[in-house]
Amino acid sequence: MRCAYCKSERTVKNGKSNQGKQRYKCKECDRIFVENPQRRHYPKELKEIAIRLFTDGVEIAVIARSLKVLYETVRSWIRNAGEKAIKKIEARKNILSKKKFNKAGIYENVDLYRKEGK
Ligand SMILES: [Zn+2]
Repeated sequence: MRCAYCKSERTVKNGKSNQGKQRYKCKECDRIFVENPQRRHYPKELKEIAIRLFTDGVEIAVIARSLKVLYETVRSWIRNAGEKAIKKIEARKNILSKKKFNKAGIYENVDLYRKEGK
């Protein structure tokens, strides 16, 4: 059984989990894991809270502890959100360059938007 964390093959059986699943211990990184861990589904709101906290400067470890979610899980939410945001920005950039906006054009549009949006 490969370690779920470091992918080492140096793992040994380590009793059963509460759900009766085989538990393993990794001799490489000393962590304990179960066979085929079930992916838990967290509500979207929880992810959004985690991402908001992170952008407010809260450390991942603190977020994980207060939301009772694994550190790795929080980290992957933040990574995914970051990638999505970058894609959005890139897509926006592409649209802007396709329309051949010059800088002045962008500013004009911003002004228009401001007027319309009060
Ligand atoms: Zn390991």
